[in-house]
Amino acid sequence: MIKQYAVIGLGRFGTSVARTLFRLGQEVLAIDTSEERVKYIADEVTHSLVADTTDANVLKNIGIANFDVVIVAIGENVQANIMTTLLLKELGVKYVLVKALNKMQGRVLEKIGADRVVYPERDMGKRVAHNLVAPNMVDYIELAQGFRISEFMAYKDMFGKSLRTLNLRFKYNLNVLLIKRAGGELISSPGPDDIIQMGDMLVLAGEKEALDNFERHQD
Ligand code: ADP
Repeated sequence: MIKQYAVIGLGRFGTSVARTLFRLGQEVLAIDTSEERVKYIADEVTHSLVADTTDANVLKNIGIANFDVVIVAIGENVQANIMTTLLLKELGVKYVLVKALNKMQGRVLEKIGADRVVYPERDMGKRVAHNLVAPNMVDYIELAQGFRISEFMAYKDMFGKSLRTLNLRFKYNLNVLLIKRAGGELISSPGPDDIIQMGDMLVLAGEKEALDNFERHQD
């Protein structure tokens, strides 16, 4: 289905998001205060616009509330990032996805109504590291609406601890389905006395939020 997207802030991240959405056949409006950056992407998106999105009138004139998804990819200018997000939600945009530089900014963004906060550099760094250590790791499999199975490399602070001690079911509402040992040994339906070792890969099942919480607490 074709949706209307607006991408605000055309740095490396925003440009890549806008270009990819357009290549996927979506309608994309790309916005930046910098004329140069807008020019650079103009031929690769549906519409482009030089504008400052911290001005509510600018957003109203574009008819921003009619867009299905707005992506705020303003990076270094944290104030503009937060102000833009606030205005978008005040103007009734249904789904606002925002790039944050750190957790503190992310918390503010969630408080003012951002529907999704992403941390591209942190996440990519994590993915690269996980992928180097465990090249065949699966990000996640969605089994049903919001219910997932995901693989995680065991973190250092889990080494030598039993599942009873880690208590993932109580702490995160997650079930350990499988432990894959570095040597290839598989422990299916692991029990409370199974001990996590260095190099273990854990296959966890639970709600998306529970898996996100688990990942976040490992930062
Ligand atoms: P990246 O790290 O992805 O390269 P940057 O922080 O370099 O991101 O880029 C963010 C972009 O957001 C810049 O091109 C900047 O001009 C743009 N930007 C900053 N403030 C505003 C604003 N108020 N309205 C629109 N675009 C903005």
